Amino acid sequence: MAESEMRGKAPPPARYPKSAACLCGALRVTASVPPQMVHACSCLDCQRQSGSAFSYSAFFAASAVSVEGEFRSWRRTSDSGRWQETDFCATCGGGLVSRLEALPGLVCVPVGCFADPDFQAPGTLYWASKRHRWLDVPACVETVETQ
Ligand SMILES: [Zn+2]
Ligand SMILES: [Zn+2]
Repeated sequence: MAESEMRGKAPPPARYPKSAACLCGALRVTASVPPQMVHACSCLDCQRQSGSAFSYSAFFAASAVSVEGEFRSWRRTSDSGRWQETDFCATCGGGLVSRLEALPGLVCVPVGCFADPDFQAPGTLYWASKRHRWLDVPACVETVETQ
């Protein structure tokens, strides 16, 4: 199929519950309902944490998410002075679940950990001002220069 035909195609309807896992599979998270929001962020902390040009994260109601496996938690403080805590797999070190002081009641899961190319696109790219120069943002994604 030509790439232009692929682009206009809507992904199949998402099915829940849906599970995400770290690279080794020892730490798993299952969400029973779709995320409340999905966004990307090009802030320099997200670049460092993801090892990529931006983070791509789904935010679920904490009550809709269950975690299985052994993990270690680490908390950092962002430029805004608020904390963000991430649970990392005790075996492979992959970060799987984060909680943000700024978003109480929600947990954040990196979309890549769902290994699902049909996962919904981010609604917003935050910190677009810090994005890598080669990165053109598609029209369906709103950009915010900072946060
Ligand atoms: Zn692991
Ligand atoms: Zn960020």
